Amino acid sequence: MKLDFFECRFCDKRYNTAAGLKRHKCPSKERADFCLETKYGKTAFEAYCIWVRMRGYVKPELEACVDSKYFTSFVKFSRFFYESSIPLLQNYIEFMVEKDFLPQLWSHPEVYSQYITSFDSRVDLMEQAKITLTYIDAVAAKVGITNEELFGVMTTHEMVKMIRSRRFSPTVLYLMKSYHRYLVECTESDAAILQSMVPETTINRKLAKNPKTKEMLRGIIKQYEL
Ligand SMILES: [Zn+2]
Repeated sequence: MKLDFFECRFCDKRYNTAAGLKRHKCPSKERADFCLETKYGKTAFEAYCIWVRMRGYVKPELEACVDSKYFTSFVKFSRFFYESSIPLLQNYIEFMVEKDFLPQLWSHPEVYSQYITSFDSRVDLMEQAKITLTYIDAVAAKVGITNEELFGVMTTHEMVKMIRSRRFSPTVLYLMKSYHRYLVECTESDAAILQSMVPETTINRKLAKNPKTKEMLRGIIKQYEL
């Protein structure tokens, strides 16, 4: 069947030609294009879809996303997600749903801080290892150096940022020889900062309860030559 008109799926405006529709602009179509064509838009839409599914609502659709009263909150969150280097999108939104935080709160520093505080108990150690090691591996490969050399070029400030965002798991870091070499080579005050974020006693206590996991982690870390 040949349609004799071309209609905008968002505002129902009709055109006689496909080119006419292509040139058409309306606020919802602009939002949809943003969701389909940009990094921040794609993540905003993905966050919307995860949120809708988690709340057991109807199948998420782009049309509903662009008309959602939370649309700008999803976009704001998407930017925040990249700026804060949040390791797990789905896990972050799960926490928001559990705590009944609506999308406009997802980028709030206090809410983010609550999530990070709960991260180590929410995400199991093997998953934390995967996040940490694949990140180090990818960054080192991008720069063209070995994983171990990456530690040599990282500043303490960068290291602190990675631990704070949980791109680097304190427990996984603690099990790396490269991390202990880093500690020896940095200044005393930098070492003190890192040791406060990678608390030896707490980590040892946790690992003592999971000797099998500890051995597995050591094995994986060795494969990454760290
Ligand atoms: Zn339109």
